[in-house]
Amino acid sequence: MKIVIVGGGFGGVKAALELSENAHYQITVVSKDKSFQYYPTLFSTATGHSHRESWVPLEHIFRNKRNIEVVYDTITKVEPEEKYVKGESGEIYRYHNLILALGSVTTYFGIPGLNTYSYGIKSESEIRALQKHLFKEMEDGKDDESHYVIIGGGATGVELAGALGTYVRTLRKHFGIRKKSVRINLVEAAPRLLPRMSKATSKSAARRLRQLGVHVETNRRVEKQTAHAIVVNGKPIKSQTVIWTSGVANPPFYEANKEHFELDKRGKVIVDEYMLALPHVYVIGDNAATPYAGLAQTALHDAIFVAKHIKGGTMSYRAIDPPCIVPIGKNWSLFEWKWLHFSGWSANVLRHAADIIGYNDVLPFGRAIGAWRARSVAELRIPDSFSQSD
Ligand SMILES: Cc1cc2nc3c(=O)[nH]c(=O)nc-3n(C[C@H](O)[C@H](O)[C@H](O)COP(=O)(O)OP(=O)(O)OC[C@H]3O[C@@H](n4cnc5c(N)ncnc54)[C@H](O)[C@@H]3O)c2cc1C
Repeated sequence: MKIVIVGGGFGGVKAALELSENAHYQITVVSKDKSFQYYPTLFSTATGHSHRESWVPLEHIFRNKRNIEVVYDTITKVEPEEKYVKGESGEIYRYHNLILALGSVTTYFGIPGLNTYSYGIKSESEIRALQKHLFKEMEDGKDDESHYVIIGGGATGVELAGALGTYVRTLRKHFGIRKKSVRINLVEAAPRLLPRMSKATSKSAARRLRQLGVHVETNRRVEKQTAHAIVVNGKPIKSQTVIWTSGVANPPFYEANKEHFELDKRGKVIVDEYMLALPHVYVIGDNAATPYAGLAQTALHDAIFVAKHIKGGTMSYRAIDPPCIVPIGKNWSLFEWKWLHFSGWSANVLRHAADIIGYNDVLPFGRAIGAWRARSVAELRIPDSFSQSD
């Protein structure tokens, strides 16, 4: 049986590994990127920790899997009647079963200027651009107050806000810049931080960030950005460094192939109880309209479910509500799962355990430990390429 999996992320990699146990399956993983990206540590890599914690080449992951072929291409078209997908290269990939796990893309909700002037941390290229900018600022030897604005009070914005101050101060020391303060604003449009979590957890996050010197501003809407300022609730804030952590959407692939897919109002693909969007076409992870889409654990859960279904399983899909652990600053995290929430050092230990399990979902245990340990390595330089260097 020929199985084509589009996407080399959490969902795609896990599905390929699960299916590879059956030697009769010929699996082709088509990915536009050469590496698996471990999103939960991007904030940490962006703030000066080793790139090895965030990227693992797909060829390393599948090295010992004889029935998995990895192809680098961007899929643009699906023809479900004829059972093939087509890549930008012009290549056609035929399948008996297709799994689509394309992840998300950044959206700026049409806010003028953000696309041009803001920085991001959702990919290698975004992180490189941000770090280049910060290094340039240091090389120029600026010793006046530096003002950083992070937009988005979700987990990514909160994690980044907790780590950015330390990183900027370390860079300043490294470049011999001694004077003046670092100001970090975290701007959120909703009335509280971490709007998907409980009120108590939001309060703890805001308190912790304030202790770390972050200026938390909720109920603030970004209106536009120019080269030197960001306009929030009608007021310009002078800043050379605005980091957009908000806004993710389904990739344009689904809109471009909309004659085949039914999309919900968020643009996510409606799937049946077996995660099928069309006969023989599964849609999983961030792309599927399921209750907890948008989390790595959900993508992994979907991948395991779909692999079982392809192998002949008959159970229906059940969404699971995964625990959330948000690190804020050194050795401190927030934990929340259903009614249970706590914070501090113990939550941070759980976060480390969750990361080891997360790496081990796609890597053998020894290599998972290696990726996890990489975070203790500081990286005060910008490598030529994060994802390809070993
Ligand atoms: C900054 C950040 C931090 C996060 N932190 C956490 C966290 O701490 N915990 C958590 O649970 N979740 C976290 N998430 C969410 C989590 O990363 C996603 O939910 C998860 O990656 C979704 O898995 P996926 O397989 O659907 O997509 P992805 O893992 O994004 O994989 C998508 C893959 O598809 C490939 N691709 C895309 N389009 C094409 C195409 N047209 N053709 C070929 N290949 C294509 C991409 O190259 C990529 O390999 C975070 C997300 C972000 C942005």
